[in-house]
Formats: sequence, C-alpha cells, structure tokens
Amino acid sequence: MNAHSSVESAEHRELFALVDELAREELEPRAAEYEEAGRFPETLVRLMGKQGLMSLPFPEQWGGGGQSYTVYLRVIERLAGSWLAVAESVHLQVLACQGLARFGSDELRGHLLPRMLGGELLAANCMSEPDAGSDLAAMSTRAMAEDGHYVISGTKAWVSHAGVADVYNVYCRTGGSGLGGLSCFLVDADTEGLRPLTHERKMGVRSLPTAQIAFDGVRVPDERMIGRRNRGMLVAAHVFDHGRLGVSACAVGLAQAALDHAVAYAKERTQFGSPIISFQGISFLLAEMATRIAAARALLYSVAALKDQGRPISAEAAKCKLFATDTAMRVTTDAVQVLGGYGYTQDLPVERWMREAKLLQILEGTNQIQRVAIAQSL
Ligand SMILES: Cc1cc2nc3c(=O)[nH]c(=O)nc-3n(C[C@H](O)[C@H](O)[C@H](O)COP(=O)(O)OP(=O)(O)OC[C@H]3O[C@@H](n4cnc5c(N)ncnc54)[C@H](O)[C@@H]3O)c2cc1C
Repeated sequence: MNAHSSVESAEHRELFALVDELAREELEPRAAEYEEAGRFPETLVRLMGKQGLMSLPFPEQWGGGGQSYTVYLRVIERLAGSWLAVAESVHLQVLACQGLARFGSDELRGHLLPRMLGGELLAANCMSEPDAGSDLAAMSTRAMAEDGHYVISGTKAWVSHAGVADVYNVYCRTGGSGLGGLSCFLVDADTEGLRPLTHERKMGVRSLPTAQIAFDGVRVPDERMIGRRNRGMLVAAHVFDHGRLGVSACAVGLAQAALDHAVAYAKERTQFGSPIISFQGISFLLAEMATRIAAARALLYSVAALKDQGRPISAEAAKCKLFATDTAMRVTTDAVQVLGGYGYTQDLPVERWMREAKLLQILEGTNQIQRVAIAQSL
C-alpha cells in the first residue's frame, strides 16, 4: 500500500489502517486452520461487511461508501495478503451487488442493496454451468414466463458462496440461443426448488464453499429480473470488468505476501556459511519477483484509474487479469523454491499460496479467455 502514500487523504489513511489491523489480527491468525478444515469463516466475512468493506465502491444513496474503485482494490489487495479466501469472499459479494446497483429497479435496490452491502445478506453469482464454462453462450438453464413469474430449471456450477448465500444472481435463458437470449434474476436462497449440491473438493481456497446449485422449477417474480429481458449479457459484462480488477488485486496481494516471506527467509537461512540471500541465484530470483509485482501493481492501478474516470476498460482489465494472476502463479512458485524443502511443507504458508494462485488463473474467465479478449481488441 505504501506505493500510494503520497496521494492518500486522512480518511483513506484511516481506512487502510483499519484494514491492516483487521488483516493482521482477525484474518492472519485463522487462515491456515480454516483452510485446512475447509470451514467457511462466516462471522469474519460478515464482519468485513459490518466494517463497510463490501460497500466501498457503491453510491452513498444505496448505503454505499462512495469510494473510488482504486480505494476498494487497495483494500482487497491488503486482505488477500493475509487470507485469499476472505478477500475473494468480499470481492464476490461486491460483484454480486454490481448488477443490482447498476441495472436493478429502484424498488429492488432500496429493498436489498443496503443489507447486501452491509454483509447482512450474503450473495452469489451463478453464471457457469457443468457444460458452459468459458462458453457462456452454451448456457442451458432456462427461465419460462408464467403469469407474473418466471420458472427457472437447470443446474449452475462452481457457485462460490453456495449454501451460505442468502440471494443468488442467476443467469438463464429467456430467449433464443446465444448470448442475446440470456436474462439475470436475483433469487432468494430459501425459494422452493433451489438446492445446493455437494461441495467441490478443491486444491486451494477450501474455506470458500463452491458447489453446483440445482434449480427445479424455481418460481421468481418478474420484479426480480435485473436489467432487461434477454439483455442479461450486459449485466454480466459489467460484472466481468469489475471482476477482473478484483481478481488482479487479489493476485498482487498474494504475490506480495509470498515475496515478503521469501525475502525474510532468505535473510535468515544460512548455507555454506552465508545467508542464502547473498547468493546471486537467490537474490536475482527475488529481484525478478519484486519487479513483476511492481509491474502488476502499476498496471492494476492504472486500469483502476481509467475505471474511476468512467472510461471503457474491458480489454485493459483483461490484460491486467492475465498479467497479475500469471505473476502471482510465478512468484508463489518461486517463493517455494527460495524456501527449499521447508517451502514444500504445510508448516509454512507458501505452499498454500502457490495452490491458491492457481485459482486466480482460472476464475473470472481463464487466462486463455483473457488472451482471446485482448486479441479481439487489437
Ligand atoms: C473455485 C472456483 C470458484 C468459481 N466461482 C464461480 C462463481 O462464483 N460463479 C460462476 O459462475 N463461476 C465460478 N467459477 C467458474 C469459473 O468461472 C470457470 O471454471 C471458468 O470460467 C472456466 O470454465 P470451465 O471450468 O468450464 O473450463 P472450460 O471452459 O471447459 O475450459 C477448459 C480449458 O480450455 C480452455 N479454453 C476454453 N475455451 C477456450 C478458447 N476459446 N481458447 C483457448 N482456450 C480455451 C480454458 O482456458 C481451460 O484451460 C469458479 C471456478 C472455480 C474453480
């Protein structure tokens, strides 16, 4: 965070100090245990909401913090440096509010947004399906219109916050084939016919529940549609732009934590009578890691500044997601190398960070799909 200190206001310094304290005192001591047990830190996640972290980039009229996206991303970066799952949880809550905040009716916004932004209602995004991952046009979950309601049938896959969410953003087909026939609905978790299935057994970020959700004739009132019928892809695209930046902030925070750990270790660990940082093979590796993180951070906040100016960012956000998450993968892998055998054990957090970094290359559009989006923009 100190890379930005020259432009911080007193209000921001106070916010970043609060986040730093939460990360050090609430997140860091619990991360390893909860990850090992695969237990969702629900109280902590809701605390992030109560502390105002989920509401930061939203307008004050809906209970938001009225902050820039840049400020929000710096908070996510710091949280990710202590516990990626909690940073991801806060971020996906923010994403789940983006569609409603931008495209929802005033009535629905007034009714739900303040409680979602405060973490009282946890939310989730259901886009992916078992046979529609990168190819969202292949989505087959359908919503049929029926006297003032839609009836949703199908199965969603990889839903983060599955089983703990109070509301689900559900993308489904209301029109013909392709991306033009999709709509988005906000569905209460206790609606009859909505059923989370078995949780995925994941390689990392185990404390954040992920599961398929079955929709068996789920009735949703017309008013719960977000945006216009068959224009759900506009909502999704809006969410994607935000999502890519948030994942990038997670990647930068995770990579920074791995570098800090590796540097401290290299200064302390002695071999051949010298600290291993004195060997060029190690110090140059650390220098490369530091340089890549600096580049990823600079790219992230330059794109965030464009977003805060209201400029289109789709291609820039894709570049950022690609570079920042590839950086996190490389830096966490190199950090394990710096620690040698100790880096390969679960006694230290570095192997966990390496497993967690892998997710960031897959989430919010795989890095192959980011390349497709960047190539199309050229
Ligand atoms: C832990 C976790 C949490 C998730 N949370 C959510 C969530 O909350 N909500 C949600 O909707 N989704 C979520 N996802 C789903 C995620 O967005 C998808 O996994 C991702 O979009 C990829 O889809 P897929 O897994 O079906 O892979 P596929 O699309 O089957 O891709 C398989 C491989 O093929 C490559 N590929 C596919 N198409 C192309 C192409 N055109 N060119 C080049 N390569 C290509 C991919 O990059 C990948 O390497 C989550 C996933 C995970 C693992």
